[in-house]
Amino acid sequence: MKLFLVVPCYNEQEVLPDTAHKLRDKMSSLISGGKISPESSVVFVDDGSADKTWEIIRALHEHDGMFRGIKLAHNKGHQNALLCGLMTVKDECDAAISLDADLQDDINAIDEMLEKFSQGCDIVYGVRSSRKKDSAFKRGTAQAFYKIMSALGVETVYNHADYRLMSKRALNALSQYKEVNIFLRGIVPQIGYKTDVVYYERGERLAGESKYPLKKMISFAFEGITSFSVKPIRMVTVIGIGIFICSLIYLLYSLIRYFLGETVRGWTSIIFAILAVGGLQMLSIGIIGEYIGKIYFETKERPKYIVEEYIK
Ligand code: UDP
Ligand code: MG
Repeated sequence: MKLFLVVPCYNEQEVLPDTAHKLRDKMSSLISGGKISPESSVVFVDDGSADKTWEIIRALHEHDGMFRGIKLAHNKGHQNALLCGLMTVKDECDAAISLDADLQDDINAIDEMLEKFSQGCDIVYGVRSSRKKDSAFKRGTAQAFYKIMSALGVETVYNHADYRLMSKRALNALSQYKEVNIFLRGIVPQIGYKTDVVYYERGERLAGESKYPLKKMISFAFEGITSFSVKPIRMVTVIGIGIFICSLIYLLYSLIRYFLGETVRGWTSIIFAILAVGGLQMLSIGIIGEYIGKIYFETKERPKYIVEEYIK
């Protein structure tokens, strides 16, 4: 059983040496325990880092053949870097596990993932049993995100990030998704096959800072929602119908007032109505525009990433 660990790295020079050391130990113990074959590998995907990340990966590779590196020509974001790594190894491995470079996801869960894989699971999700180590803000926003996603009808695994095992078969299925707006947590549950979950405690970042500032978190959540759900558009339509009915009633009411001869006042309410409807229209156009933007990028069929180098 050939296992590949896929680790996206963006400006991770502070954590990489430590991470590599811990992953190497884990792999060695899995190999000596006969769980995985000695040809298994750890693949670091450098997502266009500006620091020494690539130099470190290169040195690791030269020192130890178990480490491989893929360098993306430009920063393409966590999801694209991850996809690049998975697609690069999919023909070679029996299964691949994706995990973050900061090892916030407990690597001891790998044993259990492999156990489930040997029982015939094609996808094993790592699920955070607690988020005590995350800041209250991160925890709150993340949980709100999962709730909103499920309210909008997007199938995701609660408290699962991108720590998961996928078999070769599942990876081949994933490769058939050609969309450019890639949101793996939404796509993977759509694949199907036999799946299971493994629980673990989420730890703290080994070193360095989070590469997901609030701005990226918001755009990530927005990406997830607009890539998978058309409910926002339906909501706008429903609100639009409601407002339209209200305005008809108001029109009737003002006509009655007119025939009763009380028409001079009411300026405020008219202005209010104009602004309310105008504002709503703006909102609707904005949301529709968001989807048109997606269509625009899908039709371009741009490559999701360009590999600059692949050392192995
Ligand atoms: N990452 C990446 N490209 C980016 C941002 C992040 O490849 O543009 C990687 C990062 O190196 C890490 C993973 O995505 O391995 C998760 O990032 P981080 O740990 O900073 O996120 P957090 O745990 O704070 O949500
Ligand atoms: Mg992290």
